Amino acid sequence: MTDCIFCKIAAGEIPSNKVYEDDRILCFHDLDPQAPVHVLIIPKKHIESIDVVTEDDKELLGYIMIKVQEIAAKLGLENGYRLVNNCGEDGLQTVQHLHFHLLGKRKMTWPPG
Ligand code: 5GP
Ligand code: ZN
Repeated sequence: MTDCIFCKIAAGEIPSNKVYEDDRILCFHDLDPQAPVHVLIIPKKHIESIDVVTEDDKELLGYIMIKVQEIAAKLGLENGYRLVNNCGEDGLQTVQHLHFHLLGKRKMTWPPG
């Protein structure tokens, strides 16, 4: 998608501080970190949100979930972490390209605000 900021990051048109990349996904540090470690994991394919995924995305979504442990280990999150997806207006999604926040290196609180 041409004016999607995360598509541009995935294409290398906007620089990012990358943690992991392969042909299907990219992980990079969040611009405005909410924890000592705060990265975003995105599919390179433009998908607007978790609310519009289809059966065709099943393998890609499973792939992302399986990669989380590898990325967390690379970031030294051996004490645990939080994986977050914000969806839509009430979920406070601000970038309309599916992404998972991976946060760690501090004790999280519950319930989230
Ligand atoms: P959302 O609010 O949609 O769940 O999360 C979007 C996240 O993307 C926010 O945490 C925000 O800080 C981050 N973000 C927005 N624009 C950029 C950018 O250009 N580069 C990086 N690295 N992060 C961004
Ligand atoms: Zn996009």
